[in-house]
Amino acid sequence: MTRIVQHPKRTLWVQAYIPEVIRGLYTTLRHFLRGLFKYETLPTIPYPVIKPPIPKDYRSKHRLLKRNDGTPRCVACGMCAAACPARCIKLEAGESADAFIEKKALCFEVDYSVCVFCGLCVEACPADAIRMDTGETSFVHNNREAFVSRETL
Ligand code: SF4
Ligand code: SF4
Repeated sequence: MTRIVQHPKRTLWVQAYIPEVIRGLYTTLRHFLRGLFKYETLPTIPYPVIKPPIPKDYRSKHRLLKRNDGTPRCVACGMCAAACPARCIKLEAGESADAFIEKKALCFEVDYSVCVFCGLCVEACPADAIRMDTGETSFVHNNREAFVSRETL
């Protein structure tokens, strides 16, 4: 079925262009002044000065948990490193002073330049020693070494 498109009439107002140019400039000026004096009302977020809220269970940078007595919960079993598909966890095991605990982690390392935030390390941990709930999601560095987060326990 054919449809006839009615073009708007070319009135003197439209033909003159100047009024439309002024209207466009007014819109630009309005947004410019809003950005200058009422920045918080803009629909954009000035990231990274203001960070958007992240969902409660969003996987972020890892943290190692401690027991009530302050000792690390990690028993250096290596399950997290074995489960990691990116092979970005390295840990150093040492002897624990507690006779009931065989080992403890001396150093725990995660390379965030390759971590894919899958959460498999958290799932694999038998001691519930590692979580990804720090809320830290942005990693910006200018060299690869800086992406490696090393925690000495
Ligand atoms: S979140 Fe995934 S990729 Fe990152 S350290 Fe854990 S298992 Fe490895
Ligand atoms: S799986 Fe848990 S207890 Fe085992 S080395 Fe990793 S963080 Fe430590």
